[in-house]
Amino acid sequence: MSPQIRPFGHTSDGLPVHAVTLGDPKGVELTVLDLGAAVQSLLVPDQDGRVNLVLGHADAEGYAAFAQDYLGVLVGRYANRIAGASFELEGQEYELPANNGSACHHGGPEGFSHRVWDITEVTPNSATFELTSPHLDQGFPGEMVVRARYSVEGGVVVVEVEATADRATVFGPTSHVYWNLAGEGRGSADGHVLTVAAQQFLPVDDDGLPSGPLRSVAGTPLDFRTPAALGDVVRADHPQVHNGVDHSFAISGTGVRYAATLTEPVSGRSVEVHSDLPGLQVYTSNFFDGRTVGTSGTRYRQGDGIALEPQFHPDTPNRPELGDPVLRPGRVRRHRIEWRLAG
Ligand code: BGC
Repeated sequence: MSPQIRPFGHTSDGLPVHAVTLGDPKGVELTVLDLGAAVQSLLVPDQDGRVNLVLGHADAEGYAAFAQDYLGVLVGRYANRIAGASFELEGQEYELPANNGSACHHGGPEGFSHRVWDITEVTPNSATFELTSPHLDQGFPGEMVVRARYSVEGGVVVVEVEATADRATVFGPTSHVYWNLAGEGRGSADGHVLTVAAQQFLPVDDDGLPSGPLRSVAGTPLDFRTPAALGDVVRADHPQVHNGVDHSFAISGTGVRYAATLTEPVSGRSVEVHSDLPGLQVYTSNFFDGRTVGTSGTRYRQGDGIALEPQFHPDTPNRPELGDPVLRPGRVRRHRIEWRLAG
C-alpha cells in the first residue's frame, strides 16, 4: 500500500474503506475516500497552520450514519431528482427506486456515492477511482464503468469523471462538496459571498422538481450575476426561496468554463468553480438540523456549508429541452470540475 493510502474503517457491510491523500502538506492537500470517491478534507495553509475548507466526517461510520447529506461524495448515476422515479429511453420505460418523495434522488438509495470504489492509480498528486455498475443498478440500464480522477495542481483541484456503458443509458454525475471557507466546523456560511455566471435558473416546486422552464434571474433574489451575501439571499421574501437556495442555474456558454466564485470576506479565501456541465446546483445546506456530526466533531446546522454542484438540471432524463444526459454504447462521456483556490 502506498504511504499515501491509509485505512479509514469499514462500511456497515464490513468492507474496508481507505483514504488517499494527495498534493502538498505545505500547500493544498486533498484527502479522498474510496467510499463514494468522496472528498473528505481539503487543507490549505493559514496563519494558524492549516484549515479544512470542506465539510466531511471523521470516520466511515459518519459517512454511513449521515449518507443522506452526501458530504463530498461523487454522485451518480444521475445527480439531483428524476420526477416520478422513472424515465423513458429508446421506447423503454425504466423504473427507479424513489428515495425522495416520489422522485429518484442522487442515483437512488444505493447510488455511486454509497459504494466502495476501486483505487486504480495513485501518484503524489492524483488518485483514480473506478466503479463498475451492473445493468439495472438502481434501475438504470446498461453496465457502466465509471472513473473519477482527482488531481491537485498547485492551487487547483481537478475532478475528471468518465463513463462508458454497454447500452444506451443516462449519466449525470456531480461532486457534492460543501464549502465553508472560514473552516470546517466554524459555523454559518451566511457571510460568504457568491457569484454565479448564470442568466437563468430553474424554478422548482416544493419537492425540488422543475415547476416550469428556465427563467431569468433578473429581479429575483437568485440573481448572483453580481456578488451576493448568502445570508441576505436565504432570508429573501420570494416564493422560490423557502428555507434557502436549492436551485439549478444554467451556466452561460459551452465547454469547460467559469461557473461561480465563492468568497469568505473575513479570511479573504475564495474558490472558483469551472466545469463543462450545463447546470450548477446551489444548495445552502438547508436541511442540516444539528444532527449531522462533522469531521471536527462539530454538529452541522442549517447554512453551515454551501454545495456548488456542477450537473445536469434536475429531471433532464424526462425533459430533453434541458440537456442531453444520454450515454450511448461505444462512446465515452467525460466531465471536468475544477476548484481554483485563492487567498
Ligand atoms: C439537493 C438537496 C438535498 C441535498 C442533500 C442537494 O444536492 O439539491 O435538495 O437536500 O443534496 O441530499
